[in-house]
Amino acid sequence: MTQPPNPPSDPTDSEAVSVVLVAAGRGQRLRESLVKRGFVGQVGRKAFVSILGQPLIAWTLKALAAVPTVDNLVVVLHADDMADEALKEQLKSWGATHFTEGGRRRQDSVLNGLRATPDDGRLVGVHDAARPLIHPDDVTAVFAGAREHGASVLSQRATSTVKQSKDGWVSQTLPREMIFLAQTPQVARREVLINALMQDFEVTDEAMALEQLGAAVRIVEAQHPNPKVTTAQDKDLVEFLLRKQKELEVTYRIGEGSDIHRLVEGRKLVLGGVEVPYEYGPLGHSDGDVVLHSLVDALLGAAGLGDIGELFPDTDPQHKDAASSVFVAEAMKRVRGLGLEVINADITILAERPKLSPWKSAIRESVATLLGLSDVQAVNIKAKTNEGLDAIGRKEALAARASVLLQKSS
Ligand code: MG
Repeated sequence: MTQPPNPPSDPTDSEAVSVVLVAAGRGQRLRESLVKRGFVGQVGRKAFVSILGQPLIAWTLKALAAVPTVDNLVVVLHADDMADEALKEQLKSWGATHFTEGGRRRQDSVLNGLRATPDDGRLVGVHDAARPLIHPDDVTAVFAGAREHGASVLSQRATSTVKQSKDGWVSQTLPREMIFLAQTPQVARREVLINALMQDFEVTDEAMALEQLGAAVRIVEAQHPNPKVTTAQDKDLVEFLLRKQKELEVTYRIGEGSDIHRLVEGRKLVLGGVEVPYEYGPLGHSDGDVVLHSLVDALLGAAGLGDIGELFPDTDPQHKDAASSVFVAEAMKRVRGLGLEVINADITILAERPKLSPWKSAIRESVATLLGLSDVQAVNIKAKTNEGLDAIGRKEALAARASVLLQKSS
């Protein structure tokens, strides 16, 4: 049966697309290969098997949700999982927008998922929850392929010579340049995919259902690895690649800051938010906390956000005698707003007096708390004298220097 190719989508269509994520399968082969390897724990549904400490589907959802045009992400769940509200909340936190129940065969599940997407003529991509490495650029490319040609399948070109076999013997060598391995997403307009699957051919993927109708399906070559977790070996490979991908996407930013305040009588000495008993304290508009001022400058420096004077002018009456923890909180808000997080901070306090060793651990904990770090090891406080030299040595001033490392994670 031959039919004309699908009409290309109207180019004036909204760019917004839906993705149906199939996560209802049991993953029998993965289960068997894990058990064979000696795994004794409970092996749940494949989409929820742990990959680097997170469910497989969490990686997949986050990757798809990172594509700006994907505004509708339907997860097809097993009936048992549909009743689990906590699970659905978690899936939403990773980017899922809607849920529907799976059917007996994969194609039944996909059909249910398609029916749960908006009926507005948009393109829909069907993706396998077991392909967590899907790259946003490949998602964009396969949707672009369908927008131009009507339907598309993300595919990998065969690199090995391909043999066809019969009863364990090579029956023929297939022309490798013609061989592509179908991956997902597979994309077409919603009603086209629904129509194809409703024909109820026995198919192993959505492109095959379209082919059965004689529809043209465009091959879009994947530019990034996109393996499917089927066996324990695939799980190893995916974990290796995810680790590598994550490292590649982490960037580091270093910042340094310093601060000095004159010491005068009748002012409280506050260091890192901790009040230290002493007969002198820093002269300043705010509380004059040199530890936190140097820390704020280091944070702003690493984030490329200028300096403490620009952010909190000392002409601003609301900062008069302010606790400097307010400045750290505001700087952290801006740092986090850029997607940056603190890895560690190293701070040196320069003071001839008082003796600071009894206060270092309290200052450390205070700074770690202000930075939102659960690990106090990520903060280090050093205290030194200036060997009697200069204003610090003469106890006329005290100073601090801070270094901070920030990372931007994907
Ligand atoms: Mg200062």
